[in-house]
Amino acid sequence: MTSDLFGNAVATAEDAPGGFRCAWCGTWVLLDQPDPHRRFCGDPCRSKAWEKEHPRVPVQNLGKLTRAEKILERLRQGKATGLELLQAGGGTRYGARVHDLRGQGYRIVTENEGEWPTYRLEE
Ligand SMILES: [Zn+2]
Repeated sequence: MTSDLFGNAVATAEDAPGGFRCAWCGTWVLLDQPDPHRRFCGDPCRSKAWEKEHPRVPVQNLGKLTRAEKILERLRQGKATGLELLQAGGGTRYGARVHDLRGQGYRIVTENEGEWPTYRLEE
């Protein structure tokens, strides 16, 4: 046992059989009451460890592309008819999504206006 400036007893790691080392940052933690379930010095370390074990996926990207993103992915593989965009997951309103993509600055050319127009991405 050592003492601080005010003469209070300060436990050191060596003195602390009831302590444990934080599983995240390695800080020695002393508990008044031993708690065998506690693994971290505090909430910040507990949440960091939790986030590492359970990586967060952005909400808009839970393994699911937006319709516009699917259309973009399809067009990056080469030109596609409206039917192909629809089949790629672009939805029945693929034309509106193509319009949105153009609004975002993608140069998408419509090559013919037949029953199924053909779209081509210029990169
Ligand atoms: Zn910690």
